Amino acid sequence: MKRKVKFVDPAKLYSMIKDDIDAAYFEVMSKGDLIDRGQLRQFETNLAAFVGTKYAVGLNSGYDALHISLRAAGIGPGDEVIVPAHTFVATCSAVVNVGATPVLVDVGKDFNIDCDKVEEAIRNRQSAVGGRRSPIKAIIPVHLSGYMADMVRVMEIAEKYNLIVVEDACQSLGSSMVKQRSAVSSQQSAISQNPISDGRKLMAGAWGLTGCWSFYPFKILGGYGDGGAITTDDPDVALFARRMRYNGEDRETGEYHGHGFTCLLDNLQAAFLDVKLRYLPQWIKKRKSIAERYRSALSDISDLLLPHYVDSRRDHVYQNYTIRSKQGNAFSDYLKEHGVEVLTQFRKPYYRHEALKLEDRGFPETEALSREVCSLPMNEEIDDDEVEYVISVVRKFYGG
Ligand SMILES: *Cc1c(COP(=O)(O)O)cnc(C)c1O
Repeated sequence: MKRKVKFVDPAKLYSMIKDDIDAAYFEVMSKGDLIDRGQLRQFETNLAAFVGTKYAVGLNSGYDALHISLRAAGIGPGDEVIVPAHTFVATCSAVVNVGATPVLVDVGKDFNIDCDKVEEAIRNRQSAVGGRRSPIKAIIPVHLSGYMADMVRVMEIAEKYNLIVVEDACQSLGSSMVKQRSAVSSQQSAISQNPISDGRKLMAGAWGLTGCWSFYPFKILGGYGDGGAITTDDPDVALFARRMRYNGEDRETGEYHGHGFTCLLDNLQAAFLDVKLRYLPQWIKKRKSIAERYRSALSDISDLLLPHYVDSRRDHVYQNYTIRSKQGNAFSDYLKEHGVEVLTQFRKPYYRHEALKLEDRGFPETEALSREVCSLPMNEEIDDDEVEYVISVVRKFYGG
């Protein structure tokens, strides 16, 4: 019989936590609690506590979280917003859909935005407008695959150039970074009085004006349908999001505070997500142990680049275990032919899709990694022998 290892297996995960999920379902159904009820508020409270922010506001998707964040920040026509060239398209679409202009910046070897190139892009725009303040108003760092962008540098750049920071943390719930300058990039003491580098550990989603979350089923915290949230310390932003998700309405007074949207996180999804959030810390441990097995079994293959980085400030939670293979499609096709489901996001960078009308200014790292990326099965429901099988297929491809 041909073996098959799924990329994710939602039905299997359900069977592992069935009692808790069923209890949440029966509670919601028997009370008839459908819209904006206790389960939503409970989940918001627990999510904010987990991330370490004052507020969390449940929304319909990660896209909505980005969109509402930009609106809360007052970003609109005439403004420019820095986004990575390598990310899910929603990061960029949110910028376009508020009427602003995305400024794409290449990523580094860790798949996250390259901060040297961010500064370069800002300086280029400044000189293009004759030394006046550049129209770049905000930056959306994306924490890809479970590993944070270098937020210490992002926050330093944001302070220097007066930028609003909206974190696209959709792939990185649970990851963190210590607020400390990297030893190589700075002659000064790495820990300082400066609040940007005071040595404290901060979770993804707790750095910027907002952290944006997606609970799409295949994210590290996935619902049984679409879902998303904003985390923030800013009471005005939280209030704005609460109103805008409900067509601009203040639920207590009935007053409309603007033309809003319908993008509230469903109460039933919130109840499910609250169950899964309780499991997340142990699931992250399992993900890290799988990553360690992949590392120890595959790190000798010189044509593979594995996602293990030397920066001790940052903690990888492995929403995805994305490797790079010099053999690109030949490698990923071989895995698929041998029953290993893999993800190759994204073979075609989003800025190359003609209908999006984005300028391809040449992003060498994004171009190179797009040909090579391949995410191996990584989830909390996978068995040891499935991981072994994945490893054996990868090794067989490389002739051993
Ligand atoms: C999933 C994802 C989004 C969008 O989330 P949805 O809930 O699907 O709208 C945005 N950015 C990144 C990096 C994502 O991975």
